[in-house]
Amino acid sequence: MSDRDSAGWRSAVANGDFVIQQCSTCDTRRFPPREFCSVCHSRTWQWQPVEPTGTIESWIVDHTFAPGTTIVMVRLTNAPTCVMYGRWLAETAPSAGQTAHAVFTDDALIDWH
Ligand SMILES: [Zn+2]
Repeated sequence: MSDRDSAGWRSAVANGDFVIQQCSTCDTRRFPPREFCSVCHSRTWQWQPVEPTGTIESWIVDHTFAPGTTIVMVRLTNAPTCVMYGRWLAETAPSAGQTAHAVFTDDALIDWH
């Protein structure tokens, strides 16, 4: 499901582009997408391609909606103020500090392995 702020990101991901927002005024990078910069409050920004890798900081295993599904929190390598969440697709359990690589899903989201 997309909303005003995430629609552009979902569109980029659907095209295979791994992007985050970057403020046009102060260069602060941000994710998830939002209307204005939390640092300078500027409403001007552009999509900034970044390396689709990060470091696993934590994870949970779902026992309610998709039992057995592991969801990881990944801090992006080239934008360390940004974290993304997604399903963990590797065969082995994640570990803190492990490098994760983005996987583009068919429904325009990001998972990790
Ligand atoms: Zn800014």
